[in-house]
Amino acid sequence: MKATSQLRCFLLILVVVSGLAATCAGAAGSDALMVGVSKVDITPEKPVQMMGYASRKDLSTGVHDPLFLRVTAFQQGNSRLVVVSIDNLGFYRGTYEYMMEGITAKLGLSTEEVILAAIHTHSAPTLTIDEEEGHPNNLAYTKNLRGVLIDTIREAESNLQPVRVGVGWGESAVGVNRREQRPNGSVTLGRNPQGVHDSEVLVLDFQKADGTPLVSIYDYATHATSLGNRNYVISGDLIGIASSKVEEIRGGDVIVAALVGASGDIDPWYRVLPGFRSGKGWVPETELLGQLLATDVVHALERIEEYAETATFDSVASQILLPGKKRGQSIPEDGDDVPDVPLNLIAARIGDVGFLGMSAEVLTEVGWAIKRGSPFDRTMIVTHCNGARGYLPPAHRYKEGGYEIETSPYAPGAADRAVKEALRLLHDLKRAQGEK
Ligand SMILES: [Zn+2]
Repeated sequence: MKATSQLRCFLLILVVVSGLAATCAGAAGSDALMVGVSKVDITPEKPVQMMGYASRKDLSTGVHDPLFLRVTAFQQGNSRLVVVSIDNLGFYRGTYEYMMEGITAKLGLSTEEVILAAIHTHSAPTLTIDEEEGHPNNLAYTKNLRGVLIDTIREAESNLQPVRVGVGWGESAVGVNRREQRPNGSVTLGRNPQGVHDSEVLVLDFQKADGTPLVSIYDYATHATSLGNRNYVISGDLIGIASSKVEEIRGGDVIVAALVGASGDIDPWYRVLPGFRSGKGWVPETELLGQLLATDVVHALERIEEYAETATFDSVASQILLPGKKRGQSIPEDGDDVPDVPLNLIAARIGDVGFLGMSAEVLTEVGWAIKRGSPFDRTMIVTHCNGARGYLPPAHRYKEGGYEIETSPYAPGAADRAVKEALRLLHDLKRAQGEK
């Protein structure tokens, strides 16, 4: 090692105060972290069925705010990773596998190289490949989306450039525990300000080599359900609105992509509203919440003290089978013959920030267990990731009952096994030290 590179390495080690593991090669060498971005409008042009509330049967009647697909592509040497944030409920009923088939065939990306995450807005088109049950407009939207997804990833991978990386964090009170306790001891969907909530806003910020902002990825735990089952206009809800608002605040072509944390039991402070309320002097609650979350993301960005010249990244994926239970019951009964339920997991690291994605709606305490056990300085929990199947509650909540428990496809022992597998993947990544 030459004296100059020794000095550079020493300086980069100093930069580790930012929480990122810097390598000694500097941004110009093969260890440079390359990032490319792309964002497209995916607002449906025709009326569509909207997913999230079983009681809502009619087609959408208009658009309040546009839906987007945001892609951040990473490359370092021969390693690739793509983080997709889509303004949709999630990839239910085989649509994740349908999207991945196309992505793998056209772009050669494998399951462990793609984080396909939805913001879980309940005001977006139902994704479906069910020719018999799906509405023709939704079938066409889903089919078209696969092509758009492939093209957008390709576009992001075509504009890779070396970046600098910073990590910031803060808190937001936009989300609140929704498992309201009734005097008779039962639990109902409502508002429980004393209940558990992971209020962390964690943000990774990537700058171009000249220091101008390129893309931010933030992670926060709340359902995007400020709009309820009487809303028929398309919207990214508070999370979609927050991302666009931060983009507007930062200006230029900067992209701000959301990942949703352990939010199975978390709703926005104002929830299931009939629509965007108008009236003199009135700011619709959904926009108010979106603005507040955007403000909290900006505060987290402003707390970044240092940017590292590069960061190692790596990823790994697995699928495990978890014990299932019948929907509609809280505790499985002896003798129930219920098949195991698969869970997709993906773990990634960018410097000393870990990512853990699951194809389930993870409840707060399950996410906390992963964050607590993670070997990385900070960890982003990504729910509704690489598929979607239902709620994953911690074992001790089953006796309380309530919506998330009764509709969960998983038996009480499932979350412990999922956490164990998540931590195995994260520790494997840490041990690998970025070497594939
Ligand atoms: Zn949900």
